[in-house]
Amino acid sequence: MQDLANRMAEKTADVVKALMKMGVMANATQSLESDTAQLVAEELGHKVTVVKDDDVLNDIKDFEDPDGSLIQRAPVVTIMGHVDHGKTSLLDAFRKSNVVSGEAGGITQHIGAYQINNNNKKITFIDTPGHAAFSNMRARGSKTTDIVILVVAADDGIKPQTIESIAHAKTAEVPIIVAINKIDLPGADPDKVRNELLSHEVIVEKLSGEVLDIEVSATEGTNLDKLEEAIHLQADLLNLKANPHRKARGSVIESKLEKGRGSVATVLVQKGTLKVSDIFVSGSEWGKVKALIDDKGKNIKQAEPSVPVEVLGFDSNPLAGDDFIVVENESIARKIAEFRSSKLQIQKNTVAKSNVEEMFAQINKGEATSLPVVIKTDVQGSAEAIENSITKLSTDEVKVNVIYKGVGAITESDVTLASSGKGFIVGFNVRALPHARDIAKRDGVDIKYYSIIYELIDDVKNLLTGLLKPDISENITGNVEIREVFNISKVGNIAGCMVKDGLISRKSQIRILRDNIVIHKGQISSLKRFKEEVSEVKSGFECGVMLDNYSDIKVGDIIETFEEVSTSRKL
Ligand code: GDP
Ligand code: MG
Repeated sequence: MQDLANRMAEKTADVVKALMKMGVMANATQSLESDTAQLVAEELGHKVTVVKDDDVLNDIKDFEDPDGSLIQRAPVVTIMGHVDHGKTSLLDAFRKSNVVSGEAGGITQHIGAYQINNNNKKITFIDTPGHAAFSNMRARGSKTTDIVILVVAADDGIKPQTIESIAHAKTAEVPIIVAINKIDLPGADPDKVRNELLSHEVIVEKLSGEVLDIEVSATEGTNLDKLEEAIHLQADLLNLKANPHRKARGSVIESKLEKGRGSVATVLVQKGTLKVSDIFVSGSEWGKVKALIDDKGKNIKQAEPSVPVEVLGFDSNPLAGDDFIVVENESIARKIAEFRSSKLQIQKNTVAKSNVEEMFAQINKGEATSLPVVIKTDVQGSAEAIENSITKLSTDEVKVNVIYKGVGAITESDVTLASSGKGFIVGFNVRALPHARDIAKRDGVDIKYYSIIYELIDDVKNLLTGLLKPDISENITGNVEIREVFNISKVGNIAGCMVKDGLISRKSQIRILRDNIVIHKGQISSLKRFKEEVSEVKSGFECGVMLDNYSDIKVGDIIETFEEVSTSRKL
């Protein structure tokens, strides 16, 4: 609604009125059916052009490669298995074997994936930890892995995460090669492993199945060559090919923010050849490749299929599993990125029923028996204080159950915990990491932010007695990054900022976040665009901010703007 109103440069209230005339009741944050949106826009005298998803996305449609254009590419391998069974050791062993095999430089840099090349036969290993990465990438629709190596320690056998790994590989329809590891240990019993695998429908060659299995020792380096052979054999069966003579397409393996380099993403090229200066779209981002760096830390000019490469040129960090598509020019890239972010916005506005809403309904019906809470705070002391005070609020009907408490930013694992426990998260003077926020939105996990304990206690109390109107909307109105700090004598520090999200207004209340921890709360005393004092600055624009009576700011700090919570939350 709001978006539509903005686009038409109409007052939201006028749109509400027009809608009401049409018999539709909607508030500003609500999504409208496309027919309704079209009608109301026309009603208000605007001309509507309906853009179909297909039209915009045509430019990035994949196409069949012409006959004869496909050439062999290296298999892409992910190592999975139970904790401590030797995944990292195996990855390290392969990395070392390649250094020994004489390539200059050696693989020194950790870039989330690397390629080995023995006797001109290449294998790409994805070096991201475990299943989470694998399933996250899959959840985002990218299939990067050709072969899964399932590591099972011969002295330990099949364990829960082994079973999980098998499930992941099977649902992804990726063939498994079993590496029976730690055969150097006295307690090693490879046959037991083979037999145990049977009951999980992994039938190895030795038991007349089709799954290749190799006994190895990652630390001793035993049979790594055989494992490598098995990978090539499996790869031959899969007949892995790609066309290098086209614009590159690939997937983001991981991304990080690095000092001095900005957002750096490891991209696996899957088709075509990626070159410096290429224009790309990735998720709802676009950019231009500033530099390509290989797994040995060397700048390279281009990367062919199955080559993992660090890409510099992202404005902000993409997510693991985001696609990466080179396009013709900037205008196409911008158009697609804008289209995708507007889609994302719509998704965000139509989150499924949240845990707290459900909880509230259950409590009101007398069905809920416990209120699961994950608590994250800036200091340990507050975590304990909060736990104590809210546990005491337990009633005969509903018990407050703190499933986890800890210090620091709210992470993905906190969200998963709260989600699996059907509870919500309390952030006290801390904020959620962007990725955690996305997952929380997706899974309907509420994150509530507080900086005053009694407000938190009030909320929990009201929730328990079924009094709190489930208001899940955050009162945070903007997110502004400090990119430079100018010290002006007699005036103090002025922050050179970029509005990343929402807006900052002269009247905004603000908090300063450093590494997702709240370090200050207050007001601003001046807001400037260039030399002009302005009343507000919107997302995507730079501005200069001076804080009221506060000067201790650093590059990288976030200014969070917010509105006072309205008191109309109670029924
Ligand atoms: P991950 O959790 O699967 O990544 O397992 P690690 O690679 O971190 O290995 C866990 C432990 O097992 C480490 O102490 C390794 O040194 C040890 N380890 C890994 N592979 C072998 C092996 O082949 N033989 C022996 N004896 N120990 C191993
Ligand atoms: Mg490990």
